[in-house]
Amino acid sequence: MRAMILEKQGVPLSLREIPPPEPSYGHLPIRVHACGVCRTDLHVVDGDLKEPKLPLIPGHQIVGTVVDNSKGKGKFTKGDKVGVPWLGGSCGFCVSGRENLCDNARYTGYQIDGGFAEYTVADEHFCFTIPPGYPDLQAAPLLCAGLIGYRSLKMTEKGHRLGLYGFGAAAHIIIQVARFQGREVYAFTRKGDIEGQKFAVSLGAVWAGDSESAPPALLDAAIIFAPAGELVPKALRAATKGGIVVGAGIHMSDIPSFPYQLLWGERVLRSVANLTRRDGEEFLALAPRVPVRTEVHRYPLEKANDAL
Ligand SMILES: [Zn+2]
Ligand SMILES: [Zn+2]
Repeated sequence: MRAMILEKQGVPLSLREIPPPEPSYGHLPIRVHACGVCRTDLHVVDGDLKEPKLPLIPGHQIVGTVVDNSKGKGKFTKGDKVGVPWLGGSCGFCVSGRENLCDNARYTGYQIDGGFAEYTVADEHFCFTIPPGYPDLQAAPLLCAGLIGYRSLKMTEKGHRLGLYGFGAAAHIIIQVARFQGREVYAFTRKGDIEGQKFAVSLGAVWAGDSESAPPALLDAAIIFAPAGELVPKALRAATKGGIVVGAGIHMSDIPSFPYQLLWGERVLRSVANLTRRDGEEFLALAPRVPVRTEVHRYPLEKANDAL
C-alpha cells in the first residue's frame, strides 16, 4: 500500500510503498477513504509533541470501511463504515469513563500508525460508526475537530454567550452545534483576518472581531482553539463572573502572567484532553441532527505535506 511516513520529526513526510498492516486480536483492518488533517498532526511533524512512534504514519481523523472482522470481537462487521479518532487505546482498566486521561493511553497517528495511508488497523473499541449518509470527506473532520470541539463545548456547561478564539476547523463545526443549542456565538480571529470573521458571521456568529478587541457583551464561556497562550488572559478578561474558559488544544505556547483579578469572581480556567468514547457516540449522533456541514479541501494522499 502507499503511505505517507514521518521518518524523523522536523522533516516532511515521505511517500513509501509498504505492506498493509496486519490486525492483532480485537483490531480491525480498515480501507481508508479519507483522513482529516489536524493542527495536532503538524505539532507531531514539527516536533512540538515529543513522543511519537518512528517511523510513523500520521493522521487521526480516519473514515474507512472494515475490510475483514475475523480478528474483531463483534462490534463491527465487514463492510461497516467506521471512524477512527485520536484516542486509539487505553489500559482497559480506566472504567470511570475518563479513558481520555489514561496514563497508558495511545494515540492514533502518534503512537499508533494512522490514516495517511491506503489501509490502517484500529482497536475496534475505539472506532465509531459513521452516521449513515454522511459523505466521507464531510465526516473526517468530525473525528477530531468535531469531537474535541464537542468535548470543549460540554465543558462550557450552559454558557449562553460563547466566545470561540481561533476560528478554524474545530470552531467552524462547534459554532453550528452551539447555534443548534440556542447559544450566541462571538468569534475571535487573528488581527486582520477579515475573511475568517466573515466566515464566522456566515455561520451565525452574532459578532466577529480580532482577539485584541473586547466583545460587545461579557461572555459566559469561551473556548480557546488557537495554540496561543496570550489568549488565556484575553479570554478571562472577556468573561463574566463565573465564566468558564476552556483551552481545547493539546499544545499551547506559554501563558503570560496575569493579575489574579482576571480569575477572581469564580471564573474557571481549564483544559480539555483528548476525547472519551462517550463523547464520540454522543457527538456522532448529534452531528446529523444539527446537521453539521464541514468545509473541506480535498488533497490526494501524496500531497499530505501540502495539506499540513
Ligand atoms: Zn487507563
Ligand atoms: Zn486532532
